[in-house]
Amino acid sequence: MKMKSLNKQLFQRSMQLLLLFLVIIGFLQTSLIYLYTENQREMEVATYLEALQQTPDLLGEEEPLTKEASELAEDFASDANIVFYASSGEKQIIHTNRLFLINKQTAAYTEPVYYEGKAIGTIEIVYSIHESVELMLTQLIIYVIASIVILLLAWRFYRRMLRKTLAPLDSVIASVSEVSVDNLDEPIVIADAQADIAKLVDSTNELKVRLHDSFQTIEENQHKLQQFVSDASHELKTPLTTIQGYSEILLRGKLDNPEKIRYSLENMLDQTKRLTYIVNELLELSKLDRKVQMGKAELSLNVVLQELFPLLKMIQEGRELKLTIGEIPSVMMNRKKIEQVILNIVQNAIFHSDPKTPITIRTYQENEKVVMAITDYGEGIADEHLPLIFDRFYRVDTDRSRESGGTGLGLAICQDIMHAHNGEIDVQSTVGKETTFFIRFPKIP
Ligand code: ADP
Repeated sequence: MKMKSLNKQLFQRSMQLLLLFLVIIGFLQTSLIYLYTENQREMEVATYLEALQQTPDLLGEEEPLTKEASELAEDFASDANIVFYASSGEKQIIHTNRLFLINKQTAAYTEPVYYEGKAIGTIEIVYSIHESVELMLTQLIIYVIASIVILLLAWRFYRRMLRKTLAPLDSVIASVSEVSVDNLDEPIVIADAQADIAKLVDSTNELKVRLHDSFQTIEENQHKLQQFVSDASHELKTPLTTIQGYSEILLRGKLDNPEKIRYSLENMLDQTKRLTYIVNELLELSKLDRKVQMGKAELSLNVVLQELFPLLKMIQEGRELKLTIGEIPSVMMNRKKIEQVILNIVQNAIFHSDPKTPITIRTYQENEKVVMAITDYGEGIADEHLPLIFDRFYRVDTDRSRESGGTGLGLAICQDIMHAHNGEIDVQSTVGKETTFFIRFPKIP
């Protein structure tokens, strides 16, 4: 369907409206002129009749109207034909206006005439309305011509005016059609825009900002994904290369010493285990990414901690673990996943601090959150690493972490698990002093 342009539609409607107004005004004006002349006539008739009634000896029971009546007619209704019809049946012509006898456009008024309260006959006053009709027609012709001129002027100037008024809208349309990924950060500026158009421009600019942000997020995600694939490949490459190396040596049959064969096979097994571990962690992350629904139940973090505590103690024998339990309400959690988070943080704390230092675990309430804080008094994390340690594959000391079996995925998984609980995980650390990981759950409303 072909759509009409706003400009054209506004123009057409305005012209239709103007035409309608002109017709209404024309109709009203003609009617008023007609009513006015009609009223004039009626007033003349009334004045004449009044003069007739008030003139003494003008009317009599037997007497027909005298010649004074004709004189009065000459004074008050000179352009009328006046005839008196007496009750007796007698007809008396009082006044004649010969001029209009030839023209047929007349109006007649018939009024009863009274003498001493008694009707003595009727008087007929016939006027020519030729002049009034002519006046009306002339006026109508002038009005129609004026209206046509007004319409033509409106056609000529209103179109131009409308185009000028709607020019900012045309600029908006032109600017919007030029929007592309490359100019999303440049706002559209329209000079002399009316308030509504300025609002439209503002909303378009807001939309551009949102689109710009979305594109940036997509770009960042794409970059992250590339980085992730490259990191994952790199991570998988080391054990694969080791396995390939040992397999080739074994296949070449160069190892005759059973000790060396065993050593090679053990190494291959270790690397296979590491591969399995990495793949499992990647699968876990992918599941969290796909936001696969995890079953949750209302549980007390304190109970979970107390029950997990013996296992935590077993990670490093003789390690001092302090548990300070606060008064906290239950939260919605997937117990297995939260245990995984706690284990991961405690394992990191143990690995990055001296065995003689304690590790403390506290639970408490803060604002509308239920918090668990795990503190170790170890090496700490430098400020430049703090914002990055939750990134996938990020390790502060790559070699040391790898040696210990770390993949740099642990905290990334913890963060995803907490997000799946509508919660958060963050860290505070002072190098050489202490590190505290906080996990926060929203309270159940
Ligand atoms: P990893 O498998 O290397 O432990 P994580 O994602 O669990 O990976 O941790 C990322 C990095 O954060 C680690 O390489 C480590 O350098 C640092 N880190 C984590 N916990 C601590 C801690 N308690 N003290 C000091 N550094 C830590």
